[in-house]
Amino acid sequence: MAVPAKLRKLIQSRDAYCWHCGMTDELVVHHRINRGMGGSKTLDTAANLILICWQWNDVIERHAESAQEARMWGHKLYGWQRVESPVYDRPAGVWWVLQDDGTKREFILDEGRAFRLQLPDLFEG
Ligand SMILES: [Zn+2]
Repeated sequence: MAVPAKLRKLIQSRDAYCWHCGMTDELVVHHRINRGMGGSKTLDTAANLILICWQWNDVIERHAESAQEARMWGHKLYGWQRVESPVYDRPAGVWWVLQDDGTKREFILDEGRAFRLQLPDLFEG
């Protein structure tokens, strides 16, 4: 069952390229938490969907090692994980938290860095 057209457009306007390799064509809308056999529509949300190239999509569905790598980047999630789990934009080298309104916010790994971002004046130079 295909992702609704309106939602697909939202994902396409948020994601400029494949989250894994940066390719800009032959992209598919990928479910981070797989909908499984039942095809649960509750998993058709912006935070659960990312654009990836069909090659990466194909390899992570077929090879356990690649699937494991995809889980490391948050491109794939287990059913018990939250879609608020950060996802790695490999081409840009940035972790993001995706939101259901189709926006995303940067996920700061380093708390010290986050602190400096809040108080830039104290840390200049
Ligand atoms: Zn790719």
